[in-house]
Amino acid sequence: MRRWLAGLVLLGLVIGLAWTGRVDEETVPAVNPPVPEPSRRVSLVAVGDIMLARHVERLMQTHGTDYPFAKIEDKLQDADIAFGNLESPLSERGTPLPGKGICFRARPEMASRLKKAGFDVLSVANNHALDYDTDAFLDTLDLLRSNQIEPVGGGKNIDEARQPVIIEKNGLRIGFLAYTMFADIYYDYRYRRTFRATETVSGVAPLEQELILEDVAALRPRVDAVIVSLHWGTEYSRYPDPGQQELGRALIDAGADLIIGHHPHVIQGLERYGNGLIAYSLGNFIFDQNQHLSTRQGLILELQLTADGLSDLRVWPIFIQKSQPYVMEGQQAREFLQIVQECTHKLGTEAAIDDNSLVL
Ligand SMILES: [Zn+2]
Repeated sequence: MRRWLAGLVLLGLVIGLAWTGRVDEETVPAVNPPVPEPSRRVSLVAVGDIMLARHVERLMQTHGTDYPFAKIEDKLQDADIAFGNLESPLSERGTPLPGKGICFRARPEMASRLKKAGFDVLSVANNHALDYDTDAFLDTLDLLRSNQIEPVGGGKNIDEARQPVIIEKNGLRIGFLAYTMFADIYYDYRYRRTFRATETVSGVAPLEQELILEDVAALRPRVDAVIVSLHWGTEYSRYPDPGQQELGRALIDAGADLIIGHHPHVIQGLERYGNGLIAYSLGNFIFDQNQHLSTRQGLILELQLTADGLSDLRVWPIFIQKSQPYVMEGQQAREFLQIVQECTHKLGTEAAIDDNSLVL
């Protein structure tokens, strides 16, 4: 009898629990609603020419290696990926290329300082990477890699120079390629060392449309966004040459999302083309060209990369005060952004000044 009673009570409890459970399910909202997939976005900042030799090096001897980065690096560190063009090799080795008037070489310890500043990818495809010849060039690649910065556009041979850098962040794969217009120049007919990488010679990737199209086509299916860095254009010209515009557009037609240009040492306009963007020249970032106002003004390009393309495009105006860049504000920012806006307008792209930046 007692056992029978106990069984009945237990049955009642089970039914009661089951029933209560059902009520809970129906009336109480789920404790863990399905989590929406995190938005797959990667923030990118890109800058132009970074030169850490010559007068910049002398300033660092006096003020320390933090000096060029002190007023700007938070802008780089805040982004998921920071990109720039490294215009000076990093090494203690090598000799200046015979006949080349201007040869840059910066201290090896600058590699770790560039990493601390926030850089993740640096192009070496430019007209200074081999200023101190092969050993210094290869040192630069090694130093960058050992400091977790990916060099792009240069290598021990042409295959390596054309290899894309692929960065995985926030569930997206971002691919970088880099090329220079100045790969075939030599400076002394008795020493015909050009910058171009070949099957057997180290160097940089040349800016040749067919070759770049091939690389973009190979990279496109492997990544969510294709970024092509081009060292090109006419020095001190505010406007891209017709050939630049043609190439930039052809690369976007072929699947590139973003073209990051540099070399003219002054800014050129930006062009929205299809779903892509061509930043023809971001100007100088860290340099010692103090003679003109225009070589002391540059741009930081800031945008979001998504699986569907680019968004939130914006450029920040920078001024290089004694080789120390800072983000301009107020009247100084407005005056310079009006120039950028005008250059951009001439390329058929409208942009609006928003506080201290220009929105595309
Ligand atoms: Zn250059």
